Amino acid sequence: MIEIKNIVKTYRPNRGEAVTALDHVSLKFPENGLVFILGKSGSGKSTLLNVMGGLDNADSGEIIIKGKSSKDFSTGDFDSYRNTYLGFVFQEYNILEDFNVGANVALALKLQGRKATDEEINEILEEVDLAGFGKRKPNELSGGQKQRVAIARALVKNPEIIMADEPTGALDSKSGLQIMEIFDGLHDEGATIIMITHEMGVAKRAGRVMHIRDGMLTDGVFSAHTAGGDIK
Ligand code: ADP
Ligand code: MG
Repeated sequence: MIEIKNIVKTYRPNRGEAVTALDHVSLKFPENGLVFILGKSGSGKSTLLNVMGGLDNADSGEIIIKGKSSKDFSTGDFDSYRNTYLGFVFQEYNILEDFNVGANVALALKLQGRKATDEEINEILEEVDLAGFGKRKPNELSGGQKQRVAIARALVKNPEIIMADEPTGALDSKSGLQIMEIFDGLHDEGATIIMITHEMGVAKRAGRVMHIRDGMLTDGVFSAHTAGGDIK
């Protein structure tokens, strides 16, 4: 489905030293499932997600999607990869404050040139436990509710893969748990989810966990046996 090969990404700020955020990272994702990428702050997690999601360019290496290399991608291929193949959820929600909840969700479809019906929007809101919230503005929502709007916005596109970058990072533990339960439910329904986190606890539920450290990836299968373990 998605494979990345030998991805290198170096940031070269105007001041200070260059940072190699991804150092020859190769990774093949399973056809479906819940995959966690775990690493400390600054280890390269967001960079990896952004490069994998086509939101940022790598210096070298390639992404292979359904057998086609990013080297052979047209701009249109990249756009449709980002807009229709993937759904994104970020730590900071990234929802539009000036639009109500329903409009935020509808906008995601509009960007694909599709019009959402009220029925479609209500159905998605129900799925994230926000039934009846369509007319609310984001400033009338808690952090957990905002994140559920962000999940609804990703879901309405019916993406093949959901990529989430520390989706519980800004939330209290109760709201965070609720978000994780929604992802669990989506996973049970067959969604493929790639989730990045620095929280060991939330990764306990994953079928597969990879670890990133200093821009380098080490694969690891997480079993119940090691669930309480201290993986660094
Ligand atoms: P994580 O998400 O795991 O916290 P990041 O992918 O954000 O890590 O960052 C990896 C490394 O790249 C860090 O050392 C960070 O400081 C650096 N970095 C990230 N973005 C930039 C940027 N735009 N310019 C310069 N350095 C950056
Ligand atoms: Mg990050």
